[in-house]
Amino acid sequence: MKYAFAVPAVPSVPIAGTDLSFPVRRIYCVGRNYAEHAREMGFEPDREPPFFFTKPADAIVPDGATIAYALATQNLHHEIELVAAIGKEGVNLERAAALDHVFGYAVGIDRTRRDLQLAARDKGRPWDVGKGFDESAPIGAIRRASESGHLEAGAISLSVNGEVRQSADLKQLLWPVADLVVELSKLFVLRPGDLIYTGTPAGVGAVKPGDELRGSIESLGEISIRIGALRASAGLGA
Ligand code: MN
Repeated sequence: MKYAFAVPAVPSVPIAGTDLSFPVRRIYCVGRNYAEHAREMGFEPDREPPFFFTKPADAIVPDGATIAYALATQNLHHEIELVAAIGKEGVNLERAAALDHVFGYAVGIDRTRRDLQLAARDKGRPWDVGKGFDESAPIGAIRRASESGHLEAGAISLSVNGEVRQSADLKQLLWPVADLVVELSKLFVLRPGDLIYTGTPAGVGAVKPGDELRGSIESLGEISIRIGALRASAGLGA
């Protein structure tokens, strides 16, 4: 095959403790998966089936990066999230088998243009511009489940400039990872390389240029991201 221009690099995430990378195929995200966050967004939580949205695979940003403040927003939010990485294909999965499809876990941040997301939500329009923008999916190294085990409990937190903004426990996930894999596999064929951002706890808020974000999940790891200046060119963090 001869392409008309250079083929874009495959987005990938380092796998902790190895010299390998996890090639990213798709990014699925879950909305309102912690009760207190559902309430802060104006919804009374119930156990309706989870709902999903997506980000492009090339929205991922590595741990340690400085990323431009996003385009076209006055209200850029942080959302700390557990990310599950799929390593085995499957569809219509049974719950007992669901976690066999999870390759590993990472600490992620679902960057959100809250003003654009809420405007879309209120008009019944898609969330893409609020959620699926450039550099909207920071993610730390993936830790293999064979090493970390499957994560069903443990502290999850995010601080901005050293001040804790989000603090919760994975036990509070309304839909734990196994359930999310089951539900998602009813809608899409899951394949190796898929990532699932599992939703954020309460305490989401705005960031500004110069802010240092540090996210952490017990027994998993950390992520550090710096918010740079307004974007002046096309490059990462430019
Ligand atoms: Mn989120």
